[in-house]
Amino acid sequence: MATNTLDDREEDDYSETESALETALRQLSAAATQVDVDDGIIERLKHPTRVVEVGVPLKRDDGSVEVFTGYRAQHDDVRGPYKGGLRFHPDVTAEECVGLSMWMTWKCAVMDLPFGGAKGGVVVNPKDLSTGEKERLTRRFAEEIRDTIGPKRDIPAPDMGTDAQTMAWFMDAYSMQEGETIPGVVTGKPPVIGGSEGREEAPGRSVAIIAREALQYYDIDVDEATVAVQGFGSVGANAARLLDDWGADVVAVSDVNGAAYDTTGLDTHAVPSHEEQPEAVMQYDAPNMLTNEEVLELDVDVLIPAAIGNVLTADNADDVQADIVVEGANGPTTSAADTILEERDVPVIPDILANAGGVTVSYFEWLQDINRRQWSLERVNDELESHMLSAWDDVRREVEAGDVSWRDAAYVVALGRVGEAKASRGLWP
Ligand code: NAD
Repeated sequence: MATNTLDDREEDDYSETESALETALRQLSAAATQVDVDDGIIERLKHPTRVVEVGVPLKRDDGSVEVFTGYRAQHDDVRGPYKGGLRFHPDVTAEECVGLSMWMTWKCAVMDLPFGGAKGGVVVNPKDLSTGEKERLTRRFAEEIRDTIGPKRDIPAPDMGTDAQTMAWFMDAYSMQEGETIPGVVTGKPPVIGGSEGREEAPGRSVAIIAREALQYYDIDVDEATVAVQGFGSVGANAARLLDDWGADVVAVSDVNGAAYDTTGLDTHAVPSHEEQPEAVMQYDAPNMLTNEEVLELDVDVLIPAAIGNVLTADNADDVQADIVVEGANGPTTSAADTILEERDVPVIPDILANAGGVTVSYFEWLQDINRRQWSLERVNDELESHMLSAWDDVRREVEAGDVSWRDAAYVVALGRVGEAKASRGLWP
């Protein structure tokens, strides 16, 4: 992930593929120059509270035993319990978990949620595991990090390679050892065991809400807007369909194979999403097909990169013709591209605001779990709408007051909140 502004465009010798931790530290330093937060607090925030490393033994289906490495990095909990995903991926490292845990601290803070930041995972390719092996690995990992987590301490959620079923096993393993059912130990569970209605659609819904607000801010009517979406998965399809429902012309949507393109607007509900039929966007009968690169360069009002990270780079940022970029994916814009887009006056609404609907509905799920009271889908969506509008207003005020980019403004809001909480609690002893 690489998502911050370079101070100087000439500095493009730094890697476009810097690590998550390098990015997080650079973002923190950049935001620190714009917020009145004590240097000692900034120093504290450069370091995680703790990183737990565990060995996770797994009995494979053939009877052999393999030991995997798992991590849980906890960055900061000054505003509430640590919160962040658990990934099962071969590239998981302690350093990556630390970087991503910092990023969760800012995401929760910009949304004003009473959570801090964490991230964890197991170094494993889940595609190499049978369902039974995945279940045993998840349960054993839950046991190994049991002392580190808890509904008032640290609340994991699904991430790359994990899903609602993984969270169900994790919650069950934790609950069995505690002797009582504790749904609030993880979020992103199936609704039947305490998951929230609307959780799956929430990141895409928040992207659509923020795109709508951004259009309005730049005096473009949503029902006259044109939109292009890269990635037609959970985030992209939900965002595209909502914007379509609100009257926008979604002219292009893509999956890994390419894009369906119709200048008069696609029927986004008829294009198969990743969940409905993986990688089938090209089967939709569109007048034109485009490559993924071409989607990023369409002359539209809003471009939503919602597939993977680092797709807007120094190589293509000058060719982006969209009036506004709204980040659906995590880290789709490299720092070099961010600088180029800023110089070209193309606003980039950052991921930590736009796709924060996921962690926001995770917060609603946690509230429902600890209160043992399920909310209706209508209530979830209403509350999500008001949380997104409130965060949008906070960031917008910062943009207007400080003449800063949307990304810098979001970090200023987040760091301001975390810094103020730290100053008020103090350093102990
Ligand atoms: P998904 O697996 O549901 O869908 C991903 C889509 O992107 C698919 O249509 C796939 O074909 C397409 N795609 C994959 N590689 C591509 C490539 N190289 N070029 C173009 N398209 C490609 O994934 P998702 O859950 O929608 O996540 C998308 C992004 O949003 C990721 O960056 C993820 O980290 C981020 N995100 C997801 C959530 C969530 O809860 N789902 C929350 C916040 C952020």
